[in-house]
Amino acid sequence: MKDIQITSDFCVDHLCVAFPNSMKSANVLSDINVVFRHGIAAAVIGESGCGKSVLVLALLGLLPKYASVHGHIFYNSFDVLSVPFAIIQSNLSKHWGIIPQSPSDALNPIRKIKKQFDDIGKNASRGNFSVEELCDSLTSLGLSDIEKILQSYPHELSGGMLQRILFAMAVCCEPEWVFADEPTKGLDEQSRQQVSHNLLHLKTKKTQSMILITHDLPLTEEICEVVVVMYAGEIMEITNSVYTNGLHPYTRALIAALPINGFNPIPDGPVKNGSSRQCRFAPHCAYASKQCKHSHPNLYSVDDMHKVRCFLYA
Ligand code: SF4
Repeated sequence: MKDIQITSDFCVDHLCVAFPNSMKSANVLSDINVVFRHGIAAAVIGESGCGKSVLVLALLGLLPKYASVHGHIFYNSFDVLSVPFAIIQSNLSKHWGIIPQSPSDALNPIRKIKKQFDDIGKNASRGNFSVEELCDSLTSLGLSDIEKILQSYPHELSGGMLQRILFAMAVCCEPEWVFADEPTKGLDEQSRQQVSHNLLHLKTKKTQSMILITHDLPLTEEICEVVVVMYAGEIMEITNSVYTNGLHPYTRALIAALPINGFNPIPDGPVKNGSSRQCRFAPHCAYASKQCKHSHPNLYSVDDMHKVRCFLYA
């Protein structure tokens, strides 16, 4: 990646991540190149184990110390991968709001909700929140009896309430970027719609720069301008819509696997992260040719906004 600009974009440049296991190193991400643009909502999708969560941990400078990491992630004037963690904590992370996956694990069980909001305010050097400010924010997320909620411990509140509180905590300091990890996972349809509504509200009123990690393809359509499709540690496609513009056979397989489309499973076959001698999707692909089994496809440009790792689009 040439001519890196100092911007609030996240520029991921030839990122490779491997985790050691008992026998050898396991490649989790292979040569990831993508720019997450400031002001744009992006989603990273793909089945469990494809590397999407590791990619976002890398963006946040949260990879474990034992990870073997190569490449760069440029954000403002920093390379997130080489800057000391103290700088990330003191300088960068205050610009980021994170909506974690599991509300019950993410909050401090022995601290009241109001105190936990104030901890976030102090961390971001803005001080305590007034009850009125928090009333506004939590009411807009569909909660009522806010003063009682603020004086509650997490175990006194339902999962749906905690989920909304975490949402409010992620955005209370008006971060430049919001990261949401599986924001609709395990929710019933009504709660899912509330989350989608909240994200849309956030995007139109406050923070437009978002990265969602999700399995929820309809959510990407509702919220995101860019969708990054990952498979076996690689980016397979970058598109503005998997529904209308998804071209990669894996993207099409994900769409076909949706319940609304008949729940067609992706055929079994070995998924080999790190194998570079063939297309990693070849064992599952109905279009696999001899070339696909002996050569590794690049990420080919279909147009300025659309890239596909498939020989069909070379
Ligand atoms: S490169 Fe070949 S095997 Fe891979 S997705 Fe495209 S057609 Fe299928």
